[in-house]
Amino acid sequence: MPTRELPERSEIVVIGGGIVGVAIAHELSKRGEEVTVIEKRFIGSGSTFRCGTGIRQQFNDEANVRVMKRSVELWGHYSEEYGFPFEQTGYLFLLYYDDEVEEFRRNIEIQNRFGVPTRLITPEEAKEIVPLLDISEVIAASWNPTDGKADPFHATAKFALNAERFGARLVEYTEVKGFIVENGEIKGLKTSRGTIKTGTVINATNAWAKLINAMAGIKTKIPIEPYKHQAVITQPVRKGAVKPMVISFKYGHAYLTQTSHGGIVGGVGYEEGPTYDLNPSYEFLREVSYYFTKIIPALRELLILRTWAGYYAKTPDSNPAIGKIEELSDYYIAAGFSGHGFMMAPAVAEMVADLITKGRTDLPVEWYDPYRFERGELRGQALQMG
Ligand SMILES: Cc1cc2nc3c(=O)[nH]c(=O)nc-3n(C[C@H](O)[C@H](O)[C@H](O)COP(=O)(O)OP(=O)(O)OC[C@H]3O[C@@H](n4cnc5c(N)ncnc54)[C@H](O)[C@@H]3O)c2cc1C
Repeated sequence: MPTRELPERSEIVVIGGGIVGVAIAHELSKRGEEVTVIEKRFIGSGSTFRCGTGIRQQFNDEANVRVMKRSVELWGHYSEEYGFPFEQTGYLFLLYYDDEVEEFRRNIEIQNRFGVPTRLITPEEAKEIVPLLDISEVIAASWNPTDGKADPFHATAKFALNAERFGARLVEYTEVKGFIVENGEIKGLKTSRGTIKTGTVINATNAWAKLINAMAGIKTKIPIEPYKHQAVITQPVRKGAVKPMVISFKYGHAYLTQTSHGGIVGGVGYEEGPTYDLNPSYEFLREVSYYFTKIIPALRELLILRTWAGYYAKTPDSNPAIGKIEELSDYYIAAGFSGHGFMMAPAVAEMVADLITKGRTDLPVEWYDPYRFERGELRGQALQMG
């Protein structure tokens, strides 16, 4: 179980105990590295705790498709090995306009090229997959049966427990407050509970990443801003009612699926920010009710139990910043996941561990180059959707 003991020293320190920080610590400790995670609250308490469960490979560029294909392999592998649910119930994008279909044809072509078996299907086929759908306006759908969902808290706990089994230390209720730097080299971190000596730090704080970069004195411009993104859960219904993640851009950029407990969970594109405020709003409640019942009219009968908010840590091109920051040795960042960091975590962990232990990785980490903002080389907008 996570400890409150802050070790005096650690070869590597990961700041942030969300799915990304924990998965990185898991991968590094599995490779025999000495690593400590420092988390200001409890493991999984940030955005990870508030996430919508979705794991998809349906992206619109080579890098994200390849990274997510690897991530899904790792999700499958670890869910089996560690015993947490990862259900490959697919992602279904409902399409209503000719130009949407054209865009998805292009995306599917990229996905197929890298081995992701997405297909364009008819509205009737979509209705076979989710019989409750209103398909009266749908003209096609993009369907990949190998996408899926996992319980974020359960998965994070399993990665955490197994990281500890490999020797990682997870220190909760400890906040990083500053860096100890000499001649451009990290010597340690100051925390709310004393200092820890270390030479290698990974900033895995997502929505808080800019604060950690500022503490480290990083001058490179890495724009990551916290946006309030809300979600809803309904009363539980018969298992299997909505198996895949269903997406509709037309209806509010909505995404919805059924959790393992039976409730319908999801959200819409409604966002506020930049802000660190997390109060759910009445406007969201109205929007989500309107859009969800357009997609599945039967949802009108269901009670909404709860709404909540979390952060999307957004960058200008909706892709994270992952890599080494050369101004300070040895400082790495893996943050700014723009609403799809849960699904990426296992592959991100592999990339970061490769960079630290081998100095290179076979996955296309350059796409997430933290220096691209400063160089003005933004990527195409990553498909942003639960
Ligand atoms: C409503 C909602 C739905 C979402 N749906 C999906 C989805 O379907 N699929 C998907 O892939 N993603 C989804 N996301 C996004 C996903 O939740 C995030 O991308 C992911 O959880 C990021 O993980 P992380 O570990 O980087 O960040 P976090 O989980 O936020 O972890 C960062 C941690 O850093 C800690 N920290 C911050 N500052 C300090 C400090 N100074 N010292 C010590 N610790 C510190 C925080 O306490 C926090 O625990 C959703 C997000 C929201 C809000």
